[in-house]
Amino acid sequence: MQTQDHGSSGPDGESYNIRASSYFVLQAPHRCPACNEISRVYALAVPSGHESTEADVELDEDDADSPGLDPQAFRDWLFSPASWQRIPGPAMISATAALSPAVAQTMQALAPPYRPNPGRGGEWSNFCEHCDKPVWDGALHPNPGQAFCPADAEAAAQVTVHAVDAPFAAFFGMCWTDSYRNKWPLFARMGYACSAGD
Ligand SMILES: [Zn+2]
Repeated sequence: MQTQDHGSSGPDGESYNIRASSYFVLQAPHRCPACNEISRVYALAVPSGHESTEADVELDEDDADSPGLDPQAFRDWLFSPASWQRIPGPAMISATAALSPAVAQTMQALAPPYRPNPGRGGEWSNFCEHCDKPVWDGALHPNPGQAFCPADAEAAAQVTVHAVDAPFAAFFGMCWTDSYRNKWPLFARMGYACSAGD
């Protein structure tokens, strides 16, 4: 009999949608809006060469005027099992629904305020170290000036990058790749020079 741990799978029963041979635990200071104290907050990122099942289908620009995939090819694509694609750049994830047991164990040791939030279906969340209120990922990740969206190198220097040389797997709700230009200062802090040249 095949056993499966449904506690570590995505919302539709998938296990993971991103994986890598190593990862980064990011730590930054954040002023908690509930108690006004500075708390450490954490995020997870993966290096270039990670793999994802959620990568956008590559569109061939030269073919933009063509009718696209023929119906059979479209059906093949639609009903194909999730396939892992290698992503050339780094990425940071948020709205994380599941972490592999090994990553979860590492986070428990490295980043105790980052843990599943029962109030949001077990989604991984930061909790304020002072008042224990959950800190919404939307207050940390998407917008320039937030803890994990530093606007420049000076702000990015507030982020501590801890590299973990162990396999990574997770199920994310949001993935910030280097196609998000406003993540470039963060990725530079992780050692990735992003430029418009390539
Ligand atoms: Zn607080």
